[in-house]
Amino acid sequence: MTSKLGERVVVHAPAKVNLELRVGPLQDDGYHPLVSVFQAVSLFEEVVASTTASGTGISVTVRGPGAAQVPTDGSNLAVRAARLLAERAGVEPAAHLSLRKAAPVAGGMAGGSADAAATLLACDLLWDAGLSREELLALAAELGSDVPFALVGGTALGTGRGDRVTPVLARGEFHWVLALAETGLSTPAVYAEHDRLVAAAAAVPDLEPRVSDDLAAALLAGDPVSLGACLSNDLQAAALSLRPELRAVVRLGEEHGALGILLSGSGPTVALLASGSDQALELAVALTASGVAADVRRVTGPVPGARQVESAAVSPLHPSRRGR
Ligand code: ATP
Repeated sequence: MTSKLGERVVVHAPAKVNLELRVGPLQDDGYHPLVSVFQAVSLFEEVVASTTASGTGISVTVRGPGAAQVPTDGSNLAVRAARLLAERAGVEPAAHLSLRKAAPVAGGMAGGSADAAATLLACDLLWDAGLSREELLALAAELGSDVPFALVGGTALGTGRGDRVTPVLARGEFHWVLALAETGLSTPAVYAEHDRLVAAAAAVPDLEPRVSDDLAAALLAGDPVSLGACLSNDLQAAALSLRPELRAVVRLGEEHGALGILLSGSGPTVALLASGSDQALELAVALTASGVAADVRRVTGPVPGARQVESAAVSPLHPSRRGR
C-alpha cells in the first residue's frame, strides 16, 4: 500500500431503474433466474475513501436520506467491498469510508450496490491496488447481483442473478420522475409475495425468462413513447399487494399522461417516464402536491457507472485512471 495520510478519493456511482424485470421460477438454491434491463439514472451515491491515522481497519460513516437505517458495521456493503478488495489485492484493509446516500434505502434502486461499486473503485485508487476493470467486475459480482451494473452504468441487460451485465445500445436521454416511499420494502419479502401470487394463480413462470424485442427497439430508437409502452416488472403485483397505497402513485401518473409507470426493482420506488423535461416537471409537481409520495426526484438516464469525480490527493502514478 502506497497511500499516505491525508489522501482521499471521491467516487460517484449511480442508482438504477429496471426498464424490464422478468423473474423465473424459484430454484432449489432459493434464487430465481432473472433477466433485466437496467438503466443508470442521475441519482448518485458518493463514497469518499480516505487514509486514517491508525492506518488499520475499515470504518464507515453514512449521511443523507435514510442514513439511520444503514448499518455501519461489517454488514455495510461498502465495508464488505473494501475488505474484499484488500484481501484479493493483498493490501492492508485501512480506510475510512464516508458515504453520502442519494438513493432511497431499501428502495429498489440498488443504492447499497452503488455504494459497494463506488467503494471498489475508490479503494483501488486509494491503495494503488491496480486491479483491472475485469478484476473489479469479478469482485463486484461476488458482492451482489446489482453491483457489477453500478460499475458499468449506462443501459444494460443483466442475466443470471442479474450479475452478468451486457451493455445495450440506447440513443438519447430519457426523463424520469421517481416517487419515493417513506419506508423501504424488503427484497426477500417481495420475492416471497411474488412466489405466493404465482402459486395462487397456478402460473408457470418461464424457466428462461426473456426481455421483449420491443424494448431493445425502443431503446435503439431513443423513443420514449415506445419505451413507455413496454416497461414491465414481474415483481410489481407483489409490491402492490404488500403496499396497496402505491396504486395511488400509478393512478396519478396515468391521469397526468406519464408515458410509462413501473416499480423499480423490488420497490417501493415507482418510476414514471416523461416525454421530456417539461412533462417531468409537471408530473413531479402533481406528485408533490398530491402527497402520494414521501419524496419526488427528477432524474435522467442513462448516465455512466462509478467514476472518480474529484480527489484531494490524486495519485500521480495513475493520472490516466481518472474518470474511469
Ligand atoms: P436490493 O434490491 O439490492 O435489496 P435496494 O435498493 O432495495 O436493493 P438498498 O438500499 O441497496 O436496497 O439496501 C437494502 C438493505 O441493505 C438495507 O435495508 C440495509 O439494511 C442494507 N445495507 C447494507 N449496506 C448498505 C448501504 N451501503 N446502503 C444502503 N443499505 C445498505
